[in-house]
Amino acid sequence: MKDYWQQQALLHRDGFVKELHSFLSINSIEDMSTAAEGKPFGEGVAAALEYMLARGESDGFHTRNVDGYAGVIEYGEGEEEIGVLVHVDVVTVGEGWTTPPFKPTVRAGRIYARGAIDDKGPALAAYYALKMVKDSGIALTKKVRLIIGGDEESGWLCMKHFALHDKVPQIGFSPDSSFPMTHAEKGQINPTLALPAQVSSDTDACFQLLSFQSGDQGNSVPESARAAVKAPQKTSPEWQREVKSGWEAFLAARATTGELEITEAGDLTFVIHGKPAHGMVPQNGVNAGTLLAAFLLTLNFEASDYSFLSLLGEVLHEDFYGERLHVACEDEVSGKLTVNAGILRYDRLEGGSVRLNIRYPATVSCEEYVEKLTQRVDELGWTISNLRTSKSHYVPKDRPVIQTLSRVYEEHTGLPAHLLSSGGATYAKIMSEGVAFGPLFPGKESMAHLTDEYADINDLLRAMGIYAHAIAELAK
Ligand SMILES: [Zn+2]
Repeated sequence: MKDYWQQQALLHRDGFVKELHSFLSINSIEDMSTAAEGKPFGEGVAAALEYMLARGESDGFHTRNVDGYAGVIEYGEGEEEIGVLVHVDVVTVGEGWTTPPFKPTVRAGRIYARGAIDDKGPALAAYYALKMVKDSGIALTKKVRLIIGGDEESGWLCMKHFALHDKVPQIGFSPDSSFPMTHAEKGQINPTLALPAQVSSDTDACFQLLSFQSGDQGNSVPESARAAVKAPQKTSPEWQREVKSGWEAFLAARATTGELEITEAGDLTFVIHGKPAHGMVPQNGVNAGTLLAAFLLTLNFEASDYSFLSLLGEVLHEDFYGERLHVACEDEVSGKLTVNAGILRYDRLEGGSVRLNIRYPATVSCEEYVEKLTQRVDELGWTISNLRTSKSHYVPKDRPVIQTLSRVYEEHTGLPAHLLSSGGATYAKIMSEGVAFGPLFPGKESMAHLTDEYADINDLLRAMGIYAHAIAELAK
């Protein structure tokens, strides 16, 4: 059947590319300033959602708009349901595009536009796949539901709302990642650690940490950090020279850059630069916040100033796998737990806070690690002031959905269907037997969220053929 589906996909080439141009021209960045009844994520997302539903309607599918949060295009009948989950919202565009992000352009077989690969291109390919299944007249015994969300890149309110007002199928796939397929996704523990202000009585003898700021997103490694410090009053006349030379030696040893200003009155301002990275791979970055704290600990601080710096510089600094936090663990399917300290703040009068983004392996229990973390945080003299967790996701490889998709993938590509795991999340995790399936083929670069995002048109057509075949097999 492989040839049939691939031929069908190729027959749709011109229409698909033309339609991609229209669909990708819709700026569907979430925009709350234009949000209204029925458009909870703003005009653009609503227009993109409406575009797909109107297309489904005109092709004779049964469709439903779920209050502008999400939509469904359905085909077939049956008690059992197969879900194909896509999203039409896109991330912001940033600087430096060669051609405008919402004026799709084809160059060398690639279509360039925001959303081309994440996830509007694959969403439209999945729709075409469903249409191809319908046109083939193949008899299905299950209902297929293409579910379209509008808030994947932000708070997932789309799927939360959908789950409350409709029913999410439990078997299926989400074309929002890479081939072959991702069957394990790490879970998250996002705690904010708090430290009360506690000022030392003997402030004359020590440095004082007046304020500290680093990072503004829990899931990113902070690129820079800044600290305002007051020098002790009783100190040697040499202190300025000593601090400066210590600072320069520290920067040199870590091959990084920073600035230090010292005033006559003894006010010091430190700025240091690290290397940003995604919070799910903290080991690929240099955390400017914990690095600056590691330097400041070479000076003499007391009370809460010291407690704050010590957590950052001695516990969290380069503790990518949570060993010093006593939460280290790993599993075979998704690897090691990771810890990112994303937002670090201190104010001498108000105390300190640290926002962590912990990603735990797919097969371990969240509760167990929250408990270990709470104990350790308590031991360190801090408290957890806020805690958000999200479940991990894991579909064992003997499940029928994996067997079927592997067979289809191997038939179309001739490549082995190795199972992948991820530190990030896709809609697949809301289906107990859901996997992220394509659209990126092995060895292809992922342009999701980047400047000059593009999708390879031949690859999208090839994915379309695979999706059609997969839908027909899962729903037969
Ligand atoms: Zn996506």
